[in-house]
Amino acid sequence: MKSVLISGGAGFIGSHLCDRLLLRTDVQKLVVVDNLWTGLFANIAHVRDPRFHFVKSDVETLQSSEKFDEIYHLASPASPPWYMKEPQRTISANLLGAFRLLDLLKKGGRFCFTSTSEVYGDPLVSPQPESYKGQVDCTGPRSSYDESKRCTESLLFELQRTRGLDVRVVRPFNTYGPRTRPDDGRAVSNFITQALAGRPITVFGDGMQSRSWGYIDDIVDGFARYFWIEETDYRGPLNVGNDREISVLEVAQYVSRLVGGAPIVFEPSPPQDPTNRRPDLTNANYVMPDWSCKVSYEQGVAMTLDWFRKSMTAGAAE
Ligand code: UDP
Repeated sequence: MKSVLISGGAGFIGSHLCDRLLLRTDVQKLVVVDNLWTGLFANIAHVRDPRFHFVKSDVETLQSSEKFDEIYHLASPASPPWYMKEPQRTISANLLGAFRLLDLLKKGGRFCFTSTSEVYGDPLVSPQPESYKGQVDCTGPRSSYDESKRCTESLLFELQRTRGLDVRVVRPFNTYGPRTRPDDGRAVSNFITQALAGRPITVFGDGMQSRSWGYIDDIVDGFARYFWIEETDYRGPLNVGNDREISVLEVAQYVSRLVGGAPIVFEPSPPQDPTNRRPDLTNANYVMPDWSCKVSYEQGVAMTLDWFRKSMTAGAAE
């Protein structure tokens, strides 16, 4: 039986991963650490399971006398406006968080980390294989996120190399779906909340920049498979994402159509906004041959819109 700790477990992706962890019968205890900076208690409020324990704390100063068989490190903001506002705290959550959590790992335990496709920066090759070194500006406005993810990868892979640490690192591409904060600020949730509130949809730049939009269930399914596979000869970081690349403008137009024609306005691009992003899934297909993204962005955006509509109605009724 396994004792498991997840940092950032009240966050958007973390809370979905908690639900999957609780489906495992070999999990004896699940400790969720979250400071509720970008996470929301509402994301885990539905859990009724005696194995589940919530601790409100910054991950880097977490007090614990216990050690764990598996640790999942997800604590970090992931939305550009949030991490750009508090870069020092972002670096601390990722890097110092990893240092603290490594202290809490049992000998022979497994350390799982959600890195990011942002390690590729504004990529010059497409699609991006894990071997692509990326194009990141280490003094730019996105660097607190990109570089702290990269440095945490470095820490973990160097411990794998020098001490044989059991490491699993995923690099998720743009992920959206239920439990995103309404004020998260990323494209899909922003477009939906704007349209539902009767405000114009804000497209930054000309909207021709593209992303590969992955629905949360598909992405977390990929994480779970890679994190939980007992034996694999693949040791590197793994891209997890939907490899259908679609422009920001197309997503905005689709959301607009779904709500009956919300207006679209164009605003200046955020600094160093990547022009494109698409995962090369060769390694993912090798490591998890039964995994693929099953939800098209048309279905996923419609389901996310439904979820926001319901949660906004429920919120208004409270
Ligand atoms: N974006 C946009 N309008 C918004 C929010 C985001 O046009 O209200 C654009 C943003 O400039 C970027 C893309 O959508 O080109 C994806 O942004 P997001 O913040 O979702 O994720 P990123 O890939 O930048 O981390």
